[in-house]
Amino acid sequence: MITETIRVQMKKRRKRRRLKPIVKLWLLIIGLSVFIYAFWTEPEFIKKVIKKEQVLVPFEISGTYSSKLNDKMSSYIDYVEKSGVPPCRSEKELKKNPLLKPVNAGKNYSIDHLTHSHAYLSSKGKSLLDRIDADFGAKIKGTDLQGSHFIVSSLTRTKKNVRELKKVNVNASDRSAHMYGGCFDITYARFKNKRKKLDSNDIYKLKETIAEIIYQLMKEKKCWATKEKREPCFHVVSR
Ligand SMILES: [Zn+2]
Repeated sequence: MITETIRVQMKKRRKRRRLKPIVKLWLLIIGLSVFIYAFWTEPEFIKKVIKKEQVLVPFEISGTYSSKLNDKMSSYIDYVEKSGVPPCRSEKELKKNPLLKPVNAGKNYSIDHLTHSHAYLSSKGKSLLDRIDADFGAKIKGTDLQGSHFIVSSLTRTKKNVRELKKVNVNASDRSAHMYGGCFDITYARFKNKRKKLDSNDIYKLKETIAEIIYQLMKEKKCWATKEKREPCFHVVSR
């Protein structure tokens, strides 16, 4: 009898200690809100925790590739003239061409201030640039050069642009792959990084990384490419 009374009393106590479901729900909501708020506002201590976990390794290159980008114009210009988007006479015509799409900055690249071309590409040209963008991001991820951007220094040119360029450089040809939508230049002299001040060694490594990616695409017959000397850039033509 006594043990029975003790058992009933203990049961009652346990019941009292157990929280009501509505209280549990409120505690869960409050807990979640504090968690979300902490990440949303990123107070200093959370930033420190995140930073501590992200160990960046020094970026290393696997070799030099830029000297291997040496396709001659004669190897691709006939193909490009036949299969590319027909050249536009003016900027107005180019912007109205449904076969050309505007190109904005990508995840890992920026568009330079353009003087003799326009930020437009054919869908083939854009997919090639997207592939270089993705491959570049994957290469530098988790390294001390993470967050670096390469710079696209020239894209599609109109006939007017090509005429103007010829005035600046008398050796420039009337034939230019840049008029057909699938061609762009990536400068190897400059890269951007908001987090780190890039030194000449970093720039060299990033240059060879872009060259390696382009070289790989050349081998896959996705493009032709040339390392230009007059303008420090890799001239890339989609294939
Ligand atoms: Zn070029």
